[in-house]
Amino acid sequence: MDVLEGKPLSLSFYRYGRPVLWLAAMLAAVLIFWPARTLRSDNFILYLPEGARTIPIQSVGRVDYLPLLQILNLFVHVDGMQASQSSLRVWFGQNDVQIQLGDKKVRVNKTRVTLQAPVRAENGEWLVPLDFMASALPQLTHQPVQYRVGARRIFIGSTKPGTFSVHLKALATGADITIAFTDKVSIKTEASNGRWIVYLGGHPVEPLESSFQFQNPFVKTIQFDDQDGVPKLIVAPASDGLDFFPTLAADGKVLEAQISKQQPATALTPLPPANPLVAPPVPPQAAEEQMPAVEGSASLPLVILDPGHGGPDTGSHDKNGVLEKDLVLSLAMQVRAALVGSGRFRVALTRSGDSDPTFDRRDEVANVLHASAFVTLHAGDFGSASPRAVVYTFEPPASVETASPAPAGLPQLISWERVQELHLDSSRELGTAIEQALGAFRGLSVPKLTAAPARVLRSVNAPAVAIEIGSFAPDTDATLFTSSSFQQQLAGAILNGLDNFKKP
Ligand SMILES: [Zn+2]
Repeated sequence: MDVLEGKPLSLSFYRYGRPVLWLAAMLAAVLIFWPARTLRSDNFILYLPEGARTIPIQSVGRVDYLPLLQILNLFVHVDGMQASQSSLRVWFGQNDVQIQLGDKKVRVNKTRVTLQAPVRAENGEWLVPLDFMASALPQLTHQPVQYRVGARRIFIGSTKPGTFSVHLKALATGADITIAFTDKVSIKTEASNGRWIVYLGGHPVEPLESSFQFQNPFVKTIQFDDQDGVPKLIVAPASDGLDFFPTLAADGKVLEAQISKQQPATALTPLPPANPLVAPPVPPQAAEEQMPAVEGSASLPLVILDPGHGGPDTGSHDKNGVLEKDLVLSLAMQVRAALVGSGRFRVALTRSGDSDPTFDRRDEVANVLHASAFVTLHAGDFGSASPRAVVYTFEPPASVETASPAPAGLPQLISWERVQELHLDSSRELGTAIEQALGAFRGLSVPKLTAAPARVLRSVNAPAVAIEIGSFAPDTDATLFTSSSFQQQLAGAILNGLDNFKKP
């Protein structure tokens, strides 16, 4: 995670409320426990209707913890506390929470909640693992939460996150970046330490991937960062002397930015008009008009496999330099082998080499070939060490009504942008079948199927899901995921899921 250095940050998008610190409790706890330990410190971000707050994360071993009293103090006024060497009880209003040192089970009001790791005490603070925020906090604050497993942020109450997708178009003299948000945002930009920072205001966002890496002579990475409670995109140019021109389009939902060589100071004289006889540079994928090859016998259901990213868009990477685009392509090849080898499916890939089809192109492949199912493959950061696979279906933007199929006999008139909305039920069936099949894969943790506004699923005219494996991030080692035994097991599980979804 990239953290800004030195520069004071703009807080204009969020109003910070009064900090409520319950000093007596903290002090008492400090006196009881004092074994100092060097802990990594990152922040956990809470998005509340009135603004974002941060709580320092304390990592003990491989588990991330948060101090319980700091969490509670953000929401309530604590009425009383009973602490011993090995247990803590805190109450407020009708609520009561009891935790026990070294115990995963905590008592929240009348119910018992089992956390993913035992309660600890470090540096004088009672610590609960991150999953407390999703499993216990809603019962104490009586407010719903939205939490993506493994994420270091949570959205509370009426705060519903949107998300965004990033696309890079390589040009001969620069690069065009398009960032499509699901909800309206506002931006404020500044240059700092040789990078461009785009502060995001308006609707809060939850990144599906927090780091985008490119092999491009103009732009190196785009990273989402909200570690200080201020969400922002940090754009790192690949060299000096470049200009960055961001604009908002589509009613605040699309950020378009051009990166180009700086004009020399003498360039006040207008540039000569472009020679109309010289063709402009053509992006590599413009020539790719043919449909990809389909393997398997024509009577079988067709599965479109979509390895994410490609070409200059490398996706994320691990600490050994394994690129997401390569990992998901080799995974797709294994899935293809399993599906074709079964004799029960036909298969086509949206890319089989290092190209970068647009989202629309990937969807077009599925629609033109009349896919029975569409599976996009990604690898991402779950902030957790244990191998995980998460299955998503498409979540339509909240602002519009869900499209419904036209009554029988009437022609289907639905815009390209809303095609997937016709298939949400069958996509969920497909997602559940794959989630259950992956769940049988030993050593892989598989959270429940969730919905996310994944742009690549938006226009697929068939049941469609995204599968993301991880944690895959610059501080993780992807050796397990690149091993062919892991990939074959995963491919086998995806085949089982597809078999259970579509019994022909
Ligand atoms: Zn990805």
